[in-house]
Amino acid sequence: MMQAEIKGIKYEIRPKKNVKRINIHVELSGNVWISCPIGITPKEIDKIMLDKIEWIKRAQAKNKLRREEKAACNDDLFALTTTECLFRFNPLADNVWELIKHKLKHRFPTERPYIRVVDEKSRWGACNPKENFIRLSYRLMRMPDKTIEAIILHEFCHYLEPNHQINFHNIMAELMPDYKEREKPLKHY
Ligand SMILES: [Zn+2]
Repeated sequence: MMQAEIKGIKYEIRPKKNVKRINIHVELSGNVWISCPIGITPKEIDKIMLDKIEWIKRAQAKNKLRREEKAACNDDLFALTTTECLFRFNPLADNVWELIKHKLKHRFPTERPYIRVVDEKSRWGACNPKENFIRLSYRLMRMPDKTIEAIILHEFCHYLEPNHQINFHNIMAELMPDYKEREKPLKHY
């Protein structure tokens, strides 16, 4: 193995048998190494590295963001499986469905919308009334049950009101009078 540097980027050269061309690897740590055929000249390596320098910098920047996000997130959350999330979300959805059944059953499908767990960063949930499911971000796993229920109801209410107009909030308040209180923990994220 050899160390090299080009335009401020340090990298390691790992010549390998059975490798036909130069491959550049950018690890999550930001470390760069290349695998290359044995006997390749430094000039050939330089040329490829120079061609790819912008790509390498972008990959390093992207990995830096991923590292920061991973560090900010509770590690347990990253290890969760969809099944574990559903194990918690489904009974909560049943509770919410009970609220609806008592007051607004006639306006909803006969079957409770099913839940899909997604790796969504920008929002907590979304709904698809046409296919009768709602999507919940696995990030909700760090929220209290009451908050998750409020999000589930929020998505269910979009079956009736696509927007967040006054009518939407009226329905929320009718079914779950304390929904605003329940949503408070979401504000810290
Ligand atoms: Zn909404």
